[in-house]
Amino acid sequence: MKYKAVIGLEIHVQLKTKSKAFCADANQYGESPNTLISPISLGHPGTLPKHNKAAIEYATKLGLALNCNITRINHYARKNYFYADLPKGYQITQDKTPICTGGYVEITGENGQPKKIHLIRIHMEEDTGKSMHDQDIYDTLVDYNRAGVPLVEIVSEPEVASGEEAYQYLSEIRRLVRYLDICDGNMEEGSMRCDANVSVMLAESKEYGTKVEVKNMNSMTNVKRAIEYEIQRQIECIEKGEIIVSETRSFNAAKGNTTSMRSKESAQDYRYFPEPDLPPFIVTEEFLKKIKQDLPELPKVLFQRLQTDFGLSEYDAGVITDEKMLAEYYLEFTQYCPNHKAAANWLLGPIKSWMNENAKTITEFPISTQKMSELIALVDNGTVSHTAASGQILAELLANPKENPQAIAKRLNLIQTSDTDVLTGYISEVLNKYPDKVEEYKAGKKGLLGLFVGEVMKLSKGSADPKKVNELLRSSLD
Ligand code: ADP
Ligand code: MG
Repeated sequence: MKYKAVIGLEIHVQLKTKSKAFCADANQYGESPNTLISPISLGHPGTLPKHNKAAIEYATKLGLALNCNITRINHYARKNYFYADLPKGYQITQDKTPICTGGYVEITGENGQPKKIHLIRIHMEEDTGKSMHDQDIYDTLVDYNRAGVPLVEIVSEPEVASGEEAYQYLSEIRRLVRYLDICDGNMEEGSMRCDANVSVMLAESKEYGTKVEVKNMNSMTNVKRAIEYEIQRQIECIEKGEIIVSETRSFNAAKGNTTSMRSKESAQDYRYFPEPDLPPFIVTEEFLKKIKQDLPELPKVLFQRLQTDFGLSEYDAGVITDEKMLAEYYLEFTQYCPNHKAAANWLLGPIKSWMNENAKTITEFPISTQKMSELIALVDNGTVSHTAASGQILAELLANPKENPQAIAKRLNLIQTSDTDVLTGYISEVLNKYPDKVEEYKAGKKGLLGLFVGEVMKLSKGSADPKKVNELLRSSLD
């Protein structure tokens, strides 16, 4: 390991407010191009922006969840540049007073130990429109539906050490924004976007190498791939005696490489100045207190609670808290099902299989948590076997979610016999049939128990409760 990589990430998160950042246009993805626009989002002369309280709330929520300091007096600034997707000719953003400073995201580092990636800042700004270069042979088309959508940009310290750490950092942030319900975290649709600043340096060096900014990764896996490629490319350049130039590069997902877009030597001077059309907004103690109170349980806290209060394994707790919808379902499930471990097994077993096979989400699972809990209770009190419950009964319930699990068990003849008299009858019949095997068992060949259980099950036509049969057999033999 002659070299080490230094990576800082800039993540743009679209806030899912009802309206845009500075006007009343709807903030929605996937509508027909240029239908969610107005003179304000198109930057017509004489129009004035106004504040969006929900956007400020969302940014504050995120800052609190990431342990940041929240700035009390916030100014907006103008970042000036000319581009077709920016009709005003400037972007309203925060320059000197980002709404959040400090804070951190905790990940599992390369060495398996917890590692904090510290944040430099989170600032609020507006999104640009979207240029489409591939929809028309001759022209670039522009959709302004996205122009003015509220964003926060989360800027990390250069403390990420690998593609894998970047992947984890992104996963944590995506999970968090989903729990906070401020963004759907969909990188494929661009509601969360990540630029990676990558540099490499000699392992023992104290001075960072020149950084290269990589853009256009539209999934977490691609961020990881792009970083891994870029680290390798830079090491090879240095080994060849070349100098790394400060530039912006674009990731090509099909080729798995990065190519130069523009050099930083020609980086624009954005001529930031205070936005004159918006007064500063003040985050009051009252506002902050209210947001703190309303903050939902964060995934890290729930992950611990599922292990300590619900007795789940670290793995199960991890899978359940990874997706907010799954966690919500589980918490509702356990309100009806006292067997918390069984609820987790059913959720991660048969229910998850159903989701995978049908490409559905948990909210589309047709059987209520109440009915599922009744089914689990039938297994727990020995009325039906687990096999019958997760097989035939579940299948019937999926077809008819309103039916009663016990009624289904009856109708399909799946109720187990745990009546001691009936079972004792079967047992004596079996033991009388195999006197020599009984002798062998008594002489120490304990493995024969399975044979006796099997015979009893056969006699009962599969209706005997195998647990009860085992118990009764042992007590009559030992
Ligand atoms: P710029 O002014 O070029 O945008 P910033 O100082 O604002 O640079 O930093 C932008 C991002 O680049 C931050 O996430 C920061 O952590 C990261 N960064 C800064 N220096 C380096 C470096 N030498 N290597 C990798 N990332 C870096
Ligand atoms: Mg920057």
